[in-house]
Amino acid sequence: MKYYLLFGPPGAGKGTQAKLMVEKYNFHHVSTGDLLRKEIAAGTELGKIAKQLIDNGNFVDDSIVVQMIENEIAGNPNVAGFIFDGFPRTLPQAEILDKMLAEKNQEVNKVLSIIIPDEMVFERILHRATIENRKDDTDKSIIQTRIDLYHNKTMPLIEYYSAQGKYQEICGIGTVEEIFQKISDNL
Ligand code: ADP
Repeated sequence: MKYYLLFGPPGAGKGTQAKLMVEKYNFHHVSTGDLLRKEIAAGTELGKIAKQLIDNGNFVDDSIVVQMIENEIAGNPNVAGFIFDGFPRTLPQAEILDKMLAEKNQEVNKVLSIIIPDEMVFERILHRATIENRKDDTDKSIIQTRIDLYHNKTMPLIEYYSAQGKYQEICGIGTVEEIFQKISDNL
């Protein structure tokens, strides 16, 4: 079983690329953002807790997303691999994931980080706001909160995975196909 992580700031195109990876390689795509939005839409207790945090651009608790990841791994035993998109986002999440996989004699195979500049993050998210109905996409200060969290909480993971020799950057500027080609070359 392969385990790939997709990194990159909000709006880098992780979801778009993950879909193409699913079609080509029979991987299972796990987006913690999508899973949380499903909980919110279904009006579950978890969704109610998550909504406030997400709408304001903050992270939900590590324990919640870790539980969701465990469920996804357990519920999909017959796939060729997993693509985690939006997870791990903090150092504790990364450490828990490593432990969880080690217990199954598995490990993260590679971390693919799609890089775009902050100005482009704003541009793409404000554009997405006109297509998808995400409250966290509509307000510049909320987008800035998400960018800041990415820099402060998620970027330390670059060091963590570089030390394991698993970190690979992919330039996120170009056509969807061009970026997918670069990802495919690096799997
Ligand atoms: P983005 O497009 O900003 O990368 P996502 O769709 O991946 O956003 O996630 C949306 C929101 O869901 C995040 O801003 C955060 O509130 C919450 N979230 C998603 N994944 C995690 C995680 N691993 N840990 C904590 N919060 C998360």
